[in-house]
Amino acid sequence: MATLKAAIIPVTPLQQNSCVIWKESSKIAAVTDPGGDLSLIENFIAEQGLTLSKVFITHGHLDHAGGAFELAEKYNVEIEGPHKDDGFLINALEEQGKRYGLDSAKNFEPNRWLTDGDQIEIDGEKLDVYHCPGHTPGHIVFHHPESKLAIVGDVLFQGSIGRTDLPRGNTQDLLDAIRGKLWPLGNDVTFVPGHGPVSTFGQERLTNPYVADQLFKA
Ligand SMILES: [Zn+2]
Ligand SMILES: [Zn+2]
Repeated sequence: MATLKAAIIPVTPLQQNSCVIWKESSKIAAVTDPGGDLSLIENFIAEQGLTLSKVFITHGHLDHAGGAFELAEKYNVEIEGPHKDDGFLINALEEQGKRYGLDSAKNFEPNRWLTDGDQIEIDGEKLDVYHCPGHTPGHIVFHHPESKLAIVGDVLFQGSIGRTDLPRGNTQDLLDAIRGKLWPLGNDVTFVPGHGPVSTFGQERLTNPYVADQLFKA
């Protein structure tokens, strides 16, 4: 059974979990959410002897998308994601970067916007795309069923959920996405959140103070 390997590389002052995901047999890789500190990501790719093939973006916030343009240009690869409803954020990355001291952040137009039901690919390994709005309107999540691995950005964290008080956030949309789209993927799925430690959907269904199953019992 083909599985993907994944390594988490925290970047930016917000310690955002950028991921390098690759197929061991071919060493072909993708990077999710290269928000900044690109030298850390580039060093890892070089040390492991990986070939970068794609950049994938979960949502348009600076700490996730700020370095996407520069990384994609450097390796001459395409950017896929987020959902087009995050276009207003991607068009504001430069302005946000100047405000928060990430001077290298650049606006970009993804080579491909993604939406619910799409698939992305790393050397033939397919990951399913789920549109999970609420933290931002165009937030997407990636799931590789064979590896039981999900990359969920700022939708869900170990013991918490994404904030919904930022522009165009919506708490009900976020709760609906977590319970309606993530939980059905399986309790044994390990997820990498945008910040902090990994967990499993099953663990969060038991203990998460915002979305545990017992909170929704009538
Ligand atoms: Zn965010
Ligand atoms: Zn974040």
